[in-house]
Amino acid sequence: MRLGGLEAGGTKMVLCVGDEKGEIFEQISIPTGTPAETVPDIIKWFSDKNIDALGIGCFGPVDVSPASPTYGQILDTPKLPWVHYDLLKELQKDIKVPMKIDTDVNGSCLGEMVFGCAKGIDSVVYVTIGTGIGVGIAIGGRLVHGMLHPEAGHIIVNKHPEDKGNCICPYHDSCLEGLAAGPSMEKRWNKKAYDLEDNDLAWEIESEYIAQALVNYILTVSPQKIILGGGVMNQTRLFPLIRKKVTKLLNGYLNTPELKDMDNYIVPNSLNDNQGILGAMELGRQAYDEEKAK
Ligand code: ADP
Ligand code: ZN
Repeated sequence: MRLGGLEAGGTKMVLCVGDEKGEIFEQISIPTGTPAETVPDIIKWFSDKNIDALGIGCFGPVDVSPASPTYGQILDTPKLPWVHYDLLKELQKDIKVPMKIDTDVNGSCLGEMVFGCAKGIDSVVYVTIGTGIGVGIAIGGRLVHGMLHPEAGHIIVNKHPEDKGNCICPYHDSCLEGLAAGPSMEKRWNKKAYDLEDNDLAWEIESEYIAQALVNYILTVSPQKIILGGGVMNQTRLFPLIRKKVTKLLNGYLNTPELKDMDNYIVPNSLNDNQGILGAMELGRQAYDEEKAK
């Protein structure tokens, strides 16, 4: 089977062709411009690739309910040229194969479940901490959608007593994204996040916010594994800090084998940053199977 994958991001689009085993035959990346600039290039690239299906992991917010009349439409986003753009329908006009779209973080979560460190596990939380914070959730093997899609990056957290910065989310006074995404760290310290190597307090505060959020995800979703990705998590020193704080905040309330093995419970992504595109290909495979079953 030849599967197309599209990882639609705010700054770049990653396109690939591969197979259901996760082998990638060909992959390119193009900058994200306006839909009029970018979508014709995507269509052109796939036009001679002979794909059987296409899966898309897309920046949010996006309508991910297959039953909705606006399935595959970008919703209100700060990326103004994309507001209410019918991405899926526009692609379907020219690429006549089964397609499925989900959020980028759900795509990454799925990629890890099928090909990566969460293989064989069916309840997983995938958190990406970069320019924003996104959370993909799978419960019982199914990616969670609901009325929209979970926006757990905006979960409310308690302010760290030593944090002199502010929550920069335009909507919330004390949410995870507003306090812990890359731009928030940079505003707090007036430095690029990767230049904060020597600032222990910066990582103490950062790990506290992430740990608070993870505890809430653990208590609500009961995931068997939590995967952390995104630019900020390149700071691998965060992992031991987060694990320690999660254990402390849970305070012995839950006793599971997973939580006793924190090093294998809260982990970095495992697919060399291909988790999103591999997840997109898997969405394509599902679209193909669902079409066949009709
Ligand atoms: P995006 O979220 O836009 O897809 P990234 O996941 O790369 O992109 O996240 C970008 C954010 O991550 C920026 O705010 C940047 O400062 C931060 N970042 C990138 N690399 C590092 C690093 N090595 N250490 C700390 N922060 C980083
Ligand atoms: Zn917020």
